[in-house]
Amino acid sequence: MESKTLRLVLGDQLNTRHSWWKDDPTSFTVFMAESLSETGYVQHHIQKVVSFFLAMRHFAGWLEKKGIEVIYFKLDDKGNKHSFSENIRLLLKERYYKHWSYQLPDEYRLDQELKELAKELDLPCAVADTEHFLSEREDLTKHFKGKKTFVMESFYRMMRKKYGILMDGGEPIRGNWNFDKENRKSLPKDVKIPKPKIFSRKVQDIIDLLEKKDVKTMGRIDPDKFIWPVTRKESLEIDFFVDELLENFGRYQDAMQKDQWSLYHARLSFAMNCKILSPLEVIRKVEETWRSRNSVVPIATVEGFIRQILGWREYMRGVYWAKMPEYAKLNFFDHRQKLPSWFWTGDTKMMCLNQKINQSLDYAYAHHIQRLMVTGNFALLAGIDPDEVDAWYLGVYIDAIEWVEITNTRGMSQYADGGLVGTKPYVSSANYIDKMSDYCAGCHYDKKKKVGEKSCPFNSLYWDFYDRHSGKLEDNPRIGFAYPTLNRMKGEDRAAIIEQAGKYLDDLETL
Ligand code: FAD
Ligand code: SF4
Repeated sequence: MESKTLRLVLGDQLNTRHSWWKDDPTSFTVFMAESLSETGYVQHHIQKVVSFFLAMRHFAGWLEKKGIEVIYFKLDDKGNKHSFSENIRLLLKERYYKHWSYQLPDEYRLDQELKELAKELDLPCAVADTEHFLSEREDLTKHFKGKKTFVMESFYRMMRKKYGILMDGGEPIRGNWNFDKENRKSLPKDVKIPKPKIFSRKVQDIIDLLEKKDVKTMGRIDPDKFIWPVTRKESLEIDFFVDELLENFGRYQDAMQKDQWSLYHARLSFAMNCKILSPLEVIRKVEETWRSRNSVVPIATVEGFIRQILGWREYMRGVYWAKMPEYAKLNFFDHRQKLPSWFWTGDTKMMCLNQKINQSLDYAYAHHIQRLMVTGNFALLAGIDPDEVDAWYLGVYIDAIEWVEITNTRGMSQYADGGLVGTKPYVSSANYIDKMSDYCAGCHYDKKKKVGEKSCPFNSLYWDFYDRHSGKLEDNPRIGFAYPTLNRMKGEDRAAIIEQAGKYLDDLETL
């Protein structure tokens, strides 16, 4: 009988600073597995699967160097049952462990599976925290007890106080909680954009492995130049972000430009979501940078960046645990359209979507506003079923794990939760896209036209969306000018716009 404990580590639990690793290495064995259950629950971007496998393999190597025994099942290992429950049952049977343990999964699906397994097995099981997040699963529910809406700003302020981040005693630094008014500018023509820091690794062996096991993926990959950081050392290159990008992060956070895929964004979401980096170390690093270089780095940028991690990231996780599993079925507008097939090829005449989708297929990455105001905006205006939108977002992005994907996609972007996460739907006509990008210049469609040949689809779909959903949205005070403008339109103009939108909606494939 093994007196050791079997400890399960999931692919997004690669936390080198976890207290587990301080225990006597002879007292436990770690189990990790590449599993068809994980590569197949949605069609993932090939770079996402490769990133996870590389990061897991490096993490297993790091554990072994510390003298920890690791049982690592590769995707094509004969004994691999491709299900965590089945693999654990097998190991417990073969090796007679006395106990087993796991860290709290961040996905509802795996949380349920492991809870069930623990109930079924006649063996002591301990559940550990991942020691990654800055709030507990239930903190958000406690914070908003008795409230119908969950206002992120209130949660964020509580977190600032709790961790003393950007605080001056009990008050927010410089007397303000939020400096967003100073952010979100469009890019000037002559601005210098540093080249993104990328890595270069050969990954043909993993691509072959995926083919051998018939894993269906989406997107593109260069087998000789895999660009994403997958080790802790590489992820700690956050210095590049702090030194080269942070200064302009806030200012141009919402800007978009042709052939520029990450601008001043950190590209740290994969490293954080796999727990290679902790959110607190990223936040502290950025706060320290501001304290030492505040003549160069504006407070607005630092506060804006910290809000994304300390506020939005923790908040989304709280919403997920407060509302799952019901959240995954919400469809406030009862949208039923299918996602057009060009979401998997980028082959559309709409320049904004063409640029943004091709970029996503090339890099498994798009920044927040590209996700929200280009693809998300289009999907919402076109009435796409949130199940379809979720599946695409959960597959395509390197950082997509359900707890943070679904709350952003179904919640913030598709308003399918009826306004729990966002107070109004994030939709726009060509105006906003044109203001924040250079996409409209050179587009097949005319950004100024609402109807007729080559009229920009965003324009008619935008008014049609408000028209179709007036019963659900007209009384929302956050929507502002949309309904007064729509209601002031001449009857024939309004009818022409609705007719134009109808034509586009009937033929999304050819747009
Ligand atoms: P930066 O712009 O440099 O921001 C820094 C960090 O802040 C990010 O790494 C991330 O950890 C955090 N952050 C920023 N915004 C959010 C947010 N809204 N929610 C949670 N964390 C945030 N993020 C994911 O990590 N996984 C997803 O699957 C995901 N899906 C999204 C889907 C849609 C429709 C939208 C609108 C947003 C989604 N986001 C998701 C949030 C955000 O777009 C990404 O976190 C960000 O683009 C990652 O790139 P970055 O590291 O360069 O981020
Ligand atoms: Fe997109 Fe319309 Fe601009 Fe073309 S004109 S890039 S479709 S917003």
